Amino acid sequence: MKAAVVQDFAQPLVIEDRPVPTPAPHQVLVRLEASGICHTDIHAAHGDWPVKPSPPFVPGHEGVGIVEAVGGQVRHTKAGERVAIAWLADACGRCDHCVSGWETLCLGQHNSGYSVDGAYAEYALAHGDYVVPVPDGIDPLDAAPLTCAGVTTYKALKVSGARPGTRVLVSGIGGLGHLALQYARVFGAETIAVDITDEKLALARELGADHVLDARTQDIAAEVQKLGGADAAIALAVSNASFQAAYASLRRGGTLVLVALPAGGKLELPVFETVLNGTKVTGSIVGTRQDLAEVFRLHALGRTRVIRETRKLDDVNACIEEVLAGKVSARLVFDLRS
Ligand code: NAD
Ligand code: ZN
Ligand code: ZN
Repeated sequence: MKAAVVQDFAQPLVIEDRPVPTPAPHQVLVRLEASGICHTDIHAAHGDWPVKPSPPFVPGHEGVGIVEAVGGQVRHTKAGERVAIAWLADACGRCDHCVSGWETLCLGQHNSGYSVDGAYAEYALAHGDYVVPVPDGIDPLDAAPLTCAGVTTYKALKVSGARPGTRVLVSGIGGLGHLALQYARVFGAETIAVDITDEKLALARELGADHVLDARTQDIAAEVQKLGGADAAIALAVSNASFQAAYASLRRGGTLVLVALPAGGKLELPVFETVLNGTKVTGSIVGTRQDLAEVFRLHALGRTRVIRETRKLDDVNACIEEVLAGKVSARLVFDLRS
């Protein structure tokens, strides 16, 4: 099988020919149809974060495909089913986080395309209990971005406390942001979209943002405060400066949800204002299997639109350059069906 492999943080990915792997008793073998490029894969390939993956590894955690073979202990997934392989490759299933609906916080988890090989390949192994079924009628090319960009932003909206009548700022209208904006509308909020490219600002308008702001030319916090301030701000831009602006856009009692993970990301908090304003700052990491099932259901109901362009796996390095240059309409997806 063909796989795109990170051999070295400082080098481009290499397309390798590898043997199709055999599932262990708890695993399924998935023949991938589609695999999205999340900005996280670029951080992984560059070794941007304090906890680094170990090359050689195959990135990718927006994998969608058909189960081709199952190990002897797999009970809940069969050959022929379409499933998604998300960031949460598996978790211990026993700790307080796992059993209380917070499996994404499990200290024993593995992560697809990071600590275990992921979905930039024609086949991938996955844990039979952690793949998530993709309902019939969802295009696999749409299901792929929903598997990380969708579930992550849906969860971030839940964490933000957004509800009808609140005002939500979405900072960064990329792969994650274009879906965050749509979930903010699903949650009934007034929406403010912020980005730094004309194309993304136009996309935000097309997706129904109530207010669209350009961080290149506008003082975001000042503009949002003129509207009354944001009840919640979802930080999705790969930019430190954007965190500060999102924080300063909040109204009293507001919540900043940190999601983007730029290399060396830091946010300096003024203690006095944070205390007096009762500001909440929280991180949000992907979403659970249940969150992803809800994301798929909303999509099947027609509540979300995935903006994506397809590419060939052979072009992986050019794709990464496109994402870094901000040239992508929202998400790039490898079409792996031959
Ligand atoms: P992306 O590159 O598709 O989107 C980033 C967007 O931010 C682009 O549209 C870009 O134009 C915009 N932007 C850049 N600078 C800006 C600024 N100063 N103000 C406003 N917008 C600006 O990336 P993505 O795939 O959407 O991922 C975004 C980040 O989220 C990455 O750091 C990724 O690793 C992280 N991520 C986190 C989680 C999680 O669970 N917490 C999950 C997935 C991705
Ligand atoms: Zn991701
Ligand atoms: Zn656990």
